[in-house]
Amino acid sequence: MEVKRSRELFEEAKKYIPGGVNSPVRAFKSVGDVPRFIERAKGSHIWDVDGNEYVDYVCSWGPMILGHAHPKVVEAIKEQAEKGTSYGAPTELEVELAKMIVELVPSVEKVRMVNSGTEATMSAIRLARGYTGRNKVIKFEGGYHGHVDSLLVKAGSGLTTFGVPTSPGIPEDFAKHTITVPFNDIDALKRVLDEVGNDVAAVIMEPVMANAGLILPEPGFLEKVREITQEKGVVLIFDEVITGFRLSLGGAQEYFGITPDLSCFGKIIGGGLPVGAFGGKREIMDYLAPEGPVYQAGTLSGNPLAMAAGIATLKELQKEGVYEELRRKTEKLSEGLKEAAKSAGVYDKVSFKSIESISIVYFTPKDVKNYQDALTSNTEAYAVFFRRMLREGIYLAPSQFEVAFMSTAHTQEDIEKTVKAAEVAFKEAGELL
Ligand SMILES: *Cc1c(COP(=O)(O)O)cnc(C)c1O
Repeated sequence: MEVKRSRELFEEAKKYIPGGVNSPVRAFKSVGDVPRFIERAKGSHIWDVDGNEYVDYVCSWGPMILGHAHPKVVEAIKEQAEKGTSYGAPTELEVELAKMIVELVPSVEKVRMVNSGTEATMSAIRLARGYTGRNKVIKFEGGYHGHVDSLLVKAGSGLTTFGVPTSPGIPEDFAKHTITVPFNDIDALKRVLDEVGNDVAAVIMEPVMANAGLILPEPGFLEKVREITQEKGVVLIFDEVITGFRLSLGGAQEYFGITPDLSCFGKIIGGGLPVGAFGGKREIMDYLAPEGPVYQAGTLSGNPLAMAAGIATLKELQKEGVYEELRRKTEKLSEGLKEAAKSAGVYDKVSFKSIESISIVYFTPKDVKNYQDALTSNTEAYAVFFRRMLREGIYLAPSQFEVAFMSTAHTQEDIEKTVKAAEVAFKEAGELL
């Protein structure tokens, strides 16, 4: 596989952009390969600047649930672009998208648009703090909520850890207000809430963790989190930046039947343009300026191009049978990959997880239920697997701890090609297992 142009561009990029990329994981560091510079994409396929074609399971990290350059989305963007790209004033499009979100997502009564998932979680936390008059925030180990200062905090050893920042540049004074507990461990959460519950503004969580691999909530876990946060007057924030409009039209909250107080969105609601949103109970949302005292704003928030793309995407997703089809194809892929692992003789050394259109192969035999389990993965073996798949024309996430996304555009042929490639790749990776 020729990657000359990508290699040249990467060298050039590194002169002007830190690490040559605008988001770290794109640099392919943990898989030791040349990041492909992408020239174009259509449906389930992407092409790099050297002319190589790939079946894409990254899907821009989730937004492209309809595949790339979907005709309806492209048309909506074009049509709006002719009328201007930003006004800094209200538009009908914002009202239309907000109404759609409120109608589709069970717990959302009002919603505010922002420009990224990070902005959504950052603003939701500020709102929860303003509303409750409390300081502390609880998150789950391995949960990713964007690069917000107070959320870039990870647990060290031990069951619960009080704020140790994962990045320089975050004062300990900020991080100390963040408490991290293991996912699927309701007792750990209970203990923290018993201890400092009166100063906890919010529990923020990915209802299905999809940034530490794919970690599903055990039956009853989300229900219990809802119950005990309610008891303590703690705002429960579902970070549905990935799960929103992905697990179902109403997101994870509809899928599992849980009602959070606030929810964060991003990725899919922008249809591939930069968008985020947060919303929830009217009583809490009305604490936001200009209605209430908690300040939050954005020059490009509710951007008409992004609204147009989001509306077009959500309209397509509301068509009959879309989610069934996504699930069916993901099941096909998972079944195929299991078969490939069997014939490569590594089946008992890897493990599989999937839910609706999200899936993963962990290079650990462990049944992964929390972040510590995920960390038992053999990332070297994943790197070998990844590189072989890429050479076979399959573009997976360049990290063991990221998932594969199915889109409506993926075909039977794509899946067969993927499974065939995986047989070879599993065999190569198997030598390290
Ligand atoms: C991607 C992601 C974010 C951050 O969104 P950005 O648009 O990258 O800022 C937040 N939460 C979750 C669960 C995500 O997957």
